[in-house]
Amino acid sequence: MLPNRPYPPIPNAVNHNSPPPLIEVSGTHREMGRQIGEACREKVQHSVKNARVLIAQSYDQLELTWDGAQIQARKYLPFAEERYPQYVDEMRGVAEGSNVGFDEIVTLNTMEAVTTDALHLTRCTSMGVNEERTADGHVLAAHNEDWVPEDEDDVYVISARPSEEPPFLAMTYGGLLPNVGFNAYGIAQLIDSVYPSDSRIGIPRLVVARAILSSRRISGAIGRALVSHRAAGYNHLLVHESGEMYSIEVSARRFEILHGTDGYMVHTNHYLAQNMKEIESDPEELISSRVRYFRALRLLRQNQAHSIKSLQAIQKDHVNIPNSICNHNIEGIDPLDREKTICAMVIDLTAREMHISWGNPCQNAYHTYHLDA
Ligand SMILES: [Zn+2]
Repeated sequence: MLPNRPYPPIPNAVNHNSPPPLIEVSGTHREMGRQIGEACREKVQHSVKNARVLIAQSYDQLELTWDGAQIQARKYLPFAEERYPQYVDEMRGVAEGSNVGFDEIVTLNTMEAVTTDALHLTRCTSMGVNEERTADGHVLAAHNEDWVPEDEDDVYVISARPSEEPPFLAMTYGGLLPNVGFNAYGIAQLIDSVYPSDSRIGIPRLVVARAILSSRRISGAIGRALVSHRAAGYNHLLVHESGEMYSIEVSARRFEILHGTDGYMVHTNHYLAQNMKEIESDPEELISSRVRYFRALRLLRQNQAHSIKSLQAIQKDHVNIPNSICNHNIEGIDPLDREKTICAMVIDLTAREMHISWGNPCQNAYHTYHLDA
């Protein structure tokens, strides 16, 4: 035990007394979008309002109005429409169901691009452990979603049964396409923002990530991450129920495929591969990402018999607070730099379950959702 030291107190975190809502949808992409929009109308509208405020508050830095943001977002649409019309249809459905303008939904889904990554957000922490490192031989994936505090209220879980694609269970918030979750083919995807300097107008990152959630094979998931004409890239931590784990580090023009050979993997918000580091913008800004990375790595290595509980304990870790794995950085002066963990999830791929805490996991209980397939 450490002696008591004057660590900064844990800043106030919201307590949610209910599990995040589960929205069950099925049918064509347009129909699923509409069902989401109707069921989550207030959350979608609230997230648009939040985005408008964020753009307005950042005018000095970005010189961008909400109208300007929508014009920028429109430029990405033809690329998405050509490669993945079904997910553009899904956005159309969300707009129709929630009575929000389609351009506004597209803007939400391209926010990182239209703000030219000045929005240093989604500083998430993702982990995977396979059967070599779990007490019961299950394959687990875990993700802390760090985002602007105002969108915490907009979190929900989607259980989807698309007519022509694999069923999936995913977390999302507001009007964003779902992408962090797992599907009936035993593939989980966790995404972490990275900051490449070669971004361009192309297929938006969230559309690329949405497509990966529908993959039937690992190779297909990797191929989708590397789709041509992509605007930029994420790190996609892919975990397969067989225990195969990959970090696919992507930018607009480059990629690296990292394989988890020791039974565990971690990724945060900086590139790990040398050829990706070469095009990382402002790497010295990503110090807290490195601290979270090494912290999670050490905690994963310490344990040979991980469980859902041991991963949840890592998700609650407060070393380097407020920029800890359990993120509480809500006091930032720059509106583009405020963030917190708005939800944390552990996916048990073997059991096809997702355990999710709504809000900071240090102060909120986990709730379990099952994918019936
Ligand atoms: Zn916490």
